Amino acid sequence: MRIGIDIDGVVSDSYPFWLTELNRHFGKNVTEIDDYEMHTVFDVSREAMNDYFVCNAERLLMAPLPITGAKEGIEALLKQGHEIIYVTARTPEERDVTVRWLTRCGIPHEHERVLFAGFSSKLELVKLWGIEVFIEDYQVNAKLIAESGVPVFLLNATYNQEELPEGITRCHSWAEILEGIEALNHKYHNDKKGLAINE
Ligand SMILES: [Mg+2]
Repeated sequence: MRIGIDIDGVVSDSYPFWLTELNRHFGKNVTEIDDYEMHTVFDVSREAMNDYFVCNAERLLMAPLPITGAKEGIEALLKQGHEIIYVTARTPEERDVTVRWLTRCGIPHEHERVLFAGFSSKLELVKLWGIEVFIEDYQVNAKLIAESGVPVFLLNATYNQEELPEGITRCHSWAEILEGIEALNHKYHNDKKGLAINE
């Protein structure tokens, strides 16, 4: 299957590092990110948050460690013959640092299959690239993608605790994501076989 994978909060464990750095920079004492809109969490303007990220992109994007199990999970998916396309909400200006981070962490990727939605829609890229299943941590994106008929695995986080509609499966680890994809892949091939028999 062609699998779309988000980066922040799915492959890169960005948020714990950002929490520490943003508390220091804005002089806050936020203990938990409970909203994906970081400027809301830190009670600063959207512009102030964007400026901070633009000016400190190198450090903020290079320092985080990978999410536990992400590297091994992606390696396993590739071994099983799946295709991997990264789809991030980072901007195209952050391509260089993003690809350097993936390389440094030994996370398999093809340069041209790391896509940057920036402030536009991830769903457009999902459609354009014919992505068949998506791994995401932001429930707003997850809902949009699932509504278009593409199943989503949502990696559990403090900021995505809302009840989930059909088409989205909450997972608490990469091991659970792999199990979910295996079951989906099984169904996908059986459906294909069923179609062939009926023809
Ligand atoms: Mg994310």
